[in-house]
Amino acid sequence: MAKLILLGTASAVAFEGHENTYMVVKGDKSSILIDCAAKPLLQLKKTGIHFNDLSDLIITHFHADHVSGLANLLMDMWILGRQAEFCIHGSQHTISRVETLMSLFDWETWSNMYPVSFHTIPLEESFLVLENSEFKIHSSPVEHLIPALGLRFEYLENGFVIAYSCDTNPVEQVVRLAAGVDVLVHEAAGSFQGHSTSAEAGEIASQAQAGKLYLIHYSMYGGKTAAPIISGAERTFPREVILAEDLMEIEFSK
Ligand SMILES: [Zn+2]
Repeated sequence: MAKLILLGTASAVAFEGHENTYMVVKGDKSSILIDCAAKPLLQLKKTGIHFNDLSDLIITHFHADHVSGLANLLMDMWILGRQAEFCIHGSQHTISRVETLMSLFDWETWSNMYPVSFHTIPLEESFLVLENSEFKIHSSPVEHLIPALGLRFEYLENGFVIAYSCDTNPVEQVVRLAAGVDVLVHEAAGSFQGHSTSAEAGEIASQAQAGKLYLIHYSMYGGKTAAPIISGAERTFPREVILAEDLMEIEFSK
């Protein structure tokens, strides 16, 4: 069964049992990584996904907590003998920085390196990022401190749709991206510029008429607790609210 596996769920400062936010879309034939935090190969191992199963990486934006594992992922796959092409998708802002980052590691000198291709995502709404035999993935620019992309994952076999807000203020673009989705995964970092509170995430989910809301990219640093995060969203969203945890799986099915 196809699923979205949450590899990390913390906001910028990770905390016990919670890595920075990133995830993987896993079907029977394809696995697509969404952002790349911390130690991706170790976390993927816990899900049973082999690095050779990864065909693509979509980077939502170039903030350290979303790309800190990228250089390690690329290097580790090289050391472990990957041969297949690896496709990296992101905005021009992101791709240019990934190229700069990797050139600092002299990756052009890595012998027998597998091919890596870059695919620029324009900052336009409902852009088709990729389509394979199992999934269709669209992106829309959201409102963050730098160019950032929300994503919509459609499982073709049954039409089940999951949207992910990425880091963003509560904005109409996410309402449109998530219109009528079965599940919305929305950030709940708090009342900071470029972010949303859980109550705002609930409002967006309500306006989009999402079937279910997962709160992600939240903080429990400094002794914060889960209860107010969940209750904040429950006040503004009438359906089920779930606080995302690392390695939680969201199935593409009712
Ligand atoms: Zn960010």
